[in-house]
Amino acid sequence: MRVAVLSGKGGTGKTFVSVNLASVAQNATYLDCDVEEPNGQLFLKPEKVSTLPVTVPLPAFDGEKCTGCRKCVDFCHFNALVFVRNQPMVFAEVCHSCGGCTLVCPEGAVKESLREVGCVKEGVAGDVRVVTGILNLGEVSAVPVIKAVLQKSKNERGLTVIDCPPGSGCSVMESVSQADYCVLVAEPTAFGFHNLKMVHKLVRLLQKPCGIVINKANGEYPLLNQFCAETNTPLLLRIPYDAKVAERTAAGQVAVLQEAAMAEIFRNLLTQIRKEAVQ
Ligand code: SF4
Ligand code: SF4
Repeated sequence: MRVAVLSGKGGTGKTFVSVNLASVAQNATYLDCDVEEPNGQLFLKPEKVSTLPVTVPLPAFDGEKCTGCRKCVDFCHFNALVFVRNQPMVFAEVCHSCGGCTLVCPEGAVKESLREVGCVKEGVAGDVRVVTGILNLGEVSAVPVIKAVLQKSKNERGLTVIDCPPGSGCSVMESVSQADYCVLVAEPTAFGFHNLKMVHKLVRLLQKPCGIVINKANGEYPLLNQFCAETNTPLLLRIPYDAKVAERTAAGQVAVLQEAAMAEIFRNLLTQIRKEAVQ
């Protein structure tokens, strides 16, 4: 089963939930798709790490064959091409590697080279397989690296936990595309609630079953409970704020490996997710 863990915004405890879920399951795979800030590895500390580069095609222009017709420049909807001295020129960071300019060129003057945009690291932490996507600084699209990470989820027998990027944009849509179930992590605040509603709308649009985990849940936040009831979304777990757990997390420790009570909480969460996912 593939479980995607999302949050409408950063800092809600999405990686905390993902890492602990993976650690409490047996023989799990943890996929870090939060490729701009892949923090899961800081907690899991994988060993025997191998690295694979992630590349995308980038057009290159043959000045001998190019007649300067501008068809490629006019075609590019991403404005990645400009015309300089009667020749097209590409802005690599803006190019989405759609291949359109190669197709429309009547002279066969466009060839593609490969450009590195990030990498995927794979290692093991105990019985957890840890796959981490890392996007190079300055890149505009995280999607190619996320796709490369998700390819590593194939042929899994146990649980796969997908730690998604924050927000509700394209990179999140890509990350949840293969999920069987989505866990939405929220804070009981007005801001947290606002972002939860956005990400909830997204997973419903993608027709993914989902449940909510409230983190730092000290006291009641009636609007959240009301939202769960109105949208028929199960409230899977409330995790109260605990200074000791926060300190350990800040020190890079995995809570379920430190505290039996926390391990029990996450085992119960996993049982509930499994039940909900088959309904
Ligand atoms: S590959 Fe696509 S996005 Fe990139 S320059 Fe060509 S048409 Fe534009
Ligand atoms: S479409 Fe081909 S021939 Fe025309 S400007 Fe672009 S590269 Fe040159």
